[in-house]
Amino acid sequence: MRDNASRSSSPPDSAKLIHGFDDVQGVSVNSLPLYADDSHLTEFDATVVKAGPRFVVLDRTAFYPDSGGQPSDIGILRHSGGVALVSKAVKRGLEIFHYLDADIPVGTAVHGVVDWPTRNWNMRRHSAEHLVTGLIEALVEPPKVFSDLEKLEYQPSSLTAEMVKDVGRRFDEIVDEDALVRIYYEDRAKINASGDPRKISFLQKIPRSVNRLRIVDIGPYASTFCFGTHVKSTSEIGHLAELHLEDAKKGKKVVHFRLKIA
Ligand SMILES: [Zn+2]
Repeated sequence: MRDNASRSSSPPDSAKLIHGFDDVQGVSVNSLPLYADDSHLTEFDATVVKAGPRFVVLDRTAFYPDSGGQPSDIGILRHSGGVALVSKAVKRGLEIFHYLDADIPVGTAVHGVVDWPTRNWNMRRHSAEHLVTGLIEALVEPPKVFSDLEKLEYQPSSLTAEMVKDVGRRFDEIVDEDALVRIYYEDRAKINASGDPRKISFLQKIPRSVNRLRIVDIGPYASTFCFGTHVKSTSEIGHLAELHLEDAKKGKKVVHFRLKIA
């Protein structure tokens, strides 16, 4: 399990690059991740299977937990005894803990509502990060060493401002093209046998115990292992408001981007 509190650290860390590979290995019967099959699901019914002071674990949930550089969802859990605010969801082991402003006992039936504006904004930026990554990879640049919702770091890198400007132009064209996002699972052995050097090199950073990988393709423009939530097609991402290259210390190059709000 990754420690997302240390996400701002800059050393290369494959766990931060391959979002959520640990989640693919398995999920507890206690926390069926509804968001994995439907990233646009905002309401669901569930039962509290574990509870403590100001937290619950549900048998199923649409709340995406803080993971892989994508922030947690927020929202509410309605039940016969009232309404609890969900301030954060966190994956601990194979379970997803929902942190609340009230207690809810084990066995309670709840109706969860995920705050859509927050999820959508996170999902748009996260999907955009995949697309920027793919477009930079297509320039045959060394892989990024770190990324967050709105920035990607490269070291070493021969990126120039002109190249990044061109990436921005392509990004907006692909948004207009409304390319489909495809999500599927593949066995480790099959990826190893594929001969795709990029994916095989990614695989080497993933624990050997992980046998099935969740793959996210954005049209033909980006492909990566990821368990996050994503838009269905690129028009949902929206256009860039800003994209620029920062020359940081020791040869590091940082690509910053910002999406238009609407
Ligand atoms: Zn992703």
